[in-house]
Amino acid sequence: MKTLHFPSPIQSITFDEHHFYLKRDDLIDSDFSGNKARKFYYFLQHDFPDVRKLVSYGSAQSNAMYSLSVLAKMKGWEFEYAVDHIADYLKAHPHGNYKAALDNGMKIIQKESISSSYPKSVLFIEEGGRQQEAEFGIRALAEEIVAWKEENDITQLNIFLPSGTGTTALFLQKYLPSNRVYTTACVGDENYLKEQFLSLEKDENVHPVTLSLDKKHHFAKLYKENYKIWLKLHQQTGVEFDLLYDPLGWRVLLAHPEVFSIPTLYIHQGGVLGNESMLPRYERKYKDIDKDIL
Ligand SMILES: *Cc1c(COP(=O)(O)O)cnc(C)c1O
Repeated sequence: MKTLHFPSPIQSITFDEHHFYLKRDDLIDSDFSGNKARKFYYFLQHDFPDVRKLVSYGSAQSNAMYSLSVLAKMKGWEFEYAVDHIADYLKAHPHGNYKAALDNGMKIIQKESISSSYPKSVLFIEEGGRQQEAEFGIRALAEEIVAWKEENDITQLNIFLPSGTGTTALFLQKYLPSNRVYTTACVGDENYLKEQFLSLEKDENVHPVTLSLDKKHHFAKLYKENYKIWLKLHQQTGVEFDLLYDPLGWRVLLAHPEVFSIPTLYIHQGGVLGNESMLPRYERKYKDIDKDIL
């Protein structure tokens, strides 16, 4: 079994003249990294002697799908993934997470509904890794942050990360009770995120703080402001962020300077392989953008 790079490094960055710490979960490993590596860490670390096959479902370009294909390969399991739709273009020209998962041996099937009862030889994983086992790897992430704070005599620290299902933000807040975890809803709206938090934890007092922009935001839509901040982040920090979650994350964070009035740690949750499909779309749509004046 290959070794993963834990703890992931934390670096100092300056963005728009503000100082931030950046937790590089994107660097855990070249294949198994980021948010989904944390969420699926439980399955990597435990033995499943009866399991022969991993089954999951979701979108044909998801980060979870790719990370599960890596997990299955590492474990020697078959991997079957159900989608309700694959775009014709993607089928004809595989790229990004989809291609990488196919290269890892993923068997993709198109079907409307998925069964939830399987024999013992099958490990079934919910869409996006939204499940209790995620707590195991996110707790390890929290412990890395606690150890780093102690080593560097950092007493005050805010944490920021963008959310999809909110599973990561919620469990991080649970294991970092003396820090505030801030997040923003990227996939659904604030009400959706609150429901997700409540389904995992009834006590609202221990939920992360959800921030947002005044304007409504749709997931995976090509906003010029998102592209601009992504380019600017790359120019100023040299770091490639993901194009689905991080642009909104950084826009929301910069719009709330009260958060970074004390030292603030931003969590880079990986997902850059997905840029292979998002970036060409942005480049086509905003080809006249002047990269010298972002
Ligand atoms: C899955 C994912 C998220 C969202 O994580 P949740 O726990 O669902 O909130 C954020 N960023 C990246 C890069 C992801 O892959």
